[in-house]
Amino acid sequence: MPRIPADEILIAGHWRRGGGLPIHTVNPADGSVITTVHAASVDDVDEAARAAAAAAAAPEWRGLLPHQRARVLYRIGDLTEEHAEHLSALQTADTGKTLGETRALALSAAGTFRYTAAALETAEDALTPSRGPYVTMSVYEPIGVVGAINPWNSPIASDAQKIAPALAGGNAVLLKPAEWTPLVSLAFGRIVHQALTEAGLPTALLAVLPGKGSIVGDAIVRHPLVGRIGFTGGTGTGRTIARTAADRLIPAALELGGKSPTIVREDADTAQALAGVMYGIFSSSGQSCIAGSRLFVHSSLYDSFIGELVDRVRKLRIGPGTSPDTQVAPLVHHKHRDAVAAYVELAREEGGRVLCGGHSPEGEQYAKGAYYLPTVIDSLPNSARVCQEEIFGPVLVALPYGDEDELVAEANDSVFGLACGIWTRDAGAAWRLGRRIEAGTVWINTYKQFSISTPFGGMKDSGLGIEKGRDLIRAYQRQKSLYWGTDTAPLPWAN
Ligand code: NAD
Repeated sequence: MPRIPADEILIAGHWRRGGGLPIHTVNPADGSVITTVHAASVDDVDEAARAAAAAAAAPEWRGLLPHQRARVLYRIGDLTEEHAEHLSALQTADTGKTLGETRALALSAAGTFRYTAAALETAEDALTPSRGPYVTMSVYEPIGVVGAINPWNSPIASDAQKIAPALAGGNAVLLKPAEWTPLVSLAFGRIVHQALTEAGLPTALLAVLPGKGSIVGDAIVRHPLVGRIGFTGGTGTGRTIARTAADRLIPAALELGGKSPTIVREDADTAQALAGVMYGIFSSSGQSCIAGSRLFVHSSLYDSFIGELVDRVRKLRIGPGTSPDTQVAPLVHHKHRDAVAAYVELAREEGGRVLCGGHSPEGEQYAKGAYYLPTVIDSLPNSARVCQEEIFGPVLVALPYGDEDELVAEANDSVFGLACGIWTRDAGAAWRLGRRIEAGTVWINTYKQFSISTPFGGMKDSGLGIEKGRDLIRAYQRQKSLYWGTDTAPLPWAN
């Protein structure tokens, strides 16, 4: 049973205090300090990277065949499921999310390990068509040490999506959780540590290194032994990391921000669309890269749809993530709540109409928490800052549309291209719009559904590279081509 991590982090296979500054993790439901984690220092990153490189090269790991590595991944999946309630409680305390959401995230992490293990067992090197007197093969090999840098919104799911394919690919991983939410990553680190220990493998195959992005994250990206970066987070940070990675000529996969359009056509099933729009933006209190934060409704039903939406949003139940009744939980941190509130003020200054929400809830039970009411704003053009910038909170901007070409132009008029939702009963329109909108994922008559077996990535400023799907392990490997001569005669030129 992994105990609740107190002040130790995982460096070079050992649990100990980091040499960096203390992080006081805060429960955003009431502002209380949960615990103090001693962050990693730059020296700790260096020590972890050296130990990880040795672990990745160790014969007991490097020599494992894919089906043998897969057994370790299955074990991590099983342990994660066994401890799902503990991981969920920890993540709810650290991020504020509801227990329902964090339970689903913990179970999805277990599923990610099992799926990756199965993909690993069935991954094939390829014999390529021969064009001469030789046999050609394309094979895949470990990179060595890879960095995984994650944001605070869904730590355990993002951790699993990077650690599982990285280990499957035969690598060692340096994981950097977000400063605000290190606890579940540390608990998950204990699970991986246990599975590695049971299998007699080097425990330095995973390091968990919390701390400031500009110090610990940067040290990982710059470390000469790190051969690949998997990053999920904001677009600005992604650009900074990509620049350093480009300089070092190492690959960096970037899963970045979004401002995803949701489209409600005149022929939509409005009951279904209302529920989907609300879930798309207000679940996880809008702190989701794929949140459907820009709503386009056909002008023929705009007033009635928005009227009904606002009535229903006002009735959403606000409360701590630990209450089974809660639909909208606190935001991750008081500072983030204030940033969201500042965006709503900006919308007001720009002439927006705040139809509901627009402030923190009143009442003693909310006084100490990082709560913000679900908010719907309209009467702003798509060019307004709140329509263009990622707010990452429970704030929806609504816009009417008439003509389909104008709709497509406005929906695509964004630097982002992460996701899109389309609500319609017209299959032809769904197909047409689904192909015209610039987004890595399009949901038709559903929203925010996720499957590890379906590739995920962003277009434009929403990212570079793909996570998940059947080929997820290949991104964590280096391809090599082998030519094996079959002719006994010398090469003709040498004759
Ligand atoms: P962030 O970019 O501030 O931080 C993400 C991670 O990067 C953190 O661990 C941080 O410490 C680290 N970091 C910061 N500066 C760094 C640097 N110079 N070098 C290396 N690492 C550094 O993002 P956030 O505020 O934690 O998370 C919210 C963002 O994440 C939103 O933009 C959201 O859309 C995005 N996100 C994207 C996806 C996706 O799959 N596309 C999923 C979840 C979240």
